[in-house]
Amino acid sequence: MSWYKLTEINEGIYAVIDKDGGWFLSNSGLIDLGDKTVIIDTQYNEDRATELKHLIQKLNLPSKTIIIHTHHHGDHVWGAGVFSPEHILMHPIADQIARSLEDAGIRELYKQVFPHLDFSKSKYTPPTILVDEEIIIRGETRHVVLKPFGPAHTPGDLIVEVDDVVFTGDILFNKVTPLAIDGTVQGWIKRLEQLPRVQQYVPGHGEIGGPEIIEVLKEYLAMIYEETRKAYEKGIDDPIKIGESIDLGPYKSWKHPERVYFNVERALMDLKDIPPGAPTPRLLELASRLQL
Ligand SMILES: [Zn+2]
Repeated sequence: MSWYKLTEINEGIYAVIDKDGGWFLSNSGLIDLGDKTVIIDTQYNEDRATELKHLIQKLNLPSKTIIIHTHHHGDHVWGAGVFSPEHILMHPIADQIARSLEDAGIRELYKQVFPHLDFSKSKYTPPTILVDEEIIIRGETRHVVLKPFGPAHTPGDLIVEVDDVVFTGDILFNKVTPLAIDGTVQGWIKRLEQLPRVQQYVPGHGEIGGPEIIEVLKEYLAMIYEETRKAYEKGIDDPIKIGESIDLGPYKSWKHPERVYFNVERALMDLKDIPPGAPTPRLLELASRLQL
């Protein structure tokens, strides 16, 4: 059984949706430009990326490829090694962070935290083109627009607009709790208001949705920020204590509700004017709350 569910949104525009959507289980996109195929995000290891590669052959898509990496997180970039793309495009800040995480041996840490996942065939392949302003990739039959969209989920997010569809990377999660720890809660809320208004969005995790998934995510992040702000103003500066006091209501049914602790910590960092991308002060304490 494959990890993904394939949906052809419009002719030649495919969403490759992970059926689970949890830790390291992210979505990809395939877009037929007539003379080449755009691959959006390459999964967390080469086994999963190989399935994506087979899909390109099965769908008879052009064999020339261009990869877009929406941000630096391993579940979106570590499978790129199985492809021979003409180019890999990424935001310069995302590349910079990915390189420093490589130097720090990030996968050794992940092997301990997520023992059920296989990182043996995960590696970082750096981009050949850095994208820090809006660009258009033209093909024979259509074009895609690539837009820098951080800081939000991370300091170096990109989104991809094609026809009436936006592939948002992790700017959107659908019925999966978002993770703001590497970005900014407040900045993310602002960015959600600026997302291009289209019919369909392919999130980084969870199912395809319409504009309603933007609103729901904005409400979740605004609730986290407000509850954290109120607690912080009362002198409470403990993400676990604040997280435990928050009634998640309808968001409790989303996958990985325990990410609330990470999101509260990032909201506290926003309140302390700590910039996105800065190290998380209490990361190990928060990691003890993970549910895999
Ligand atoms: Zn991410």
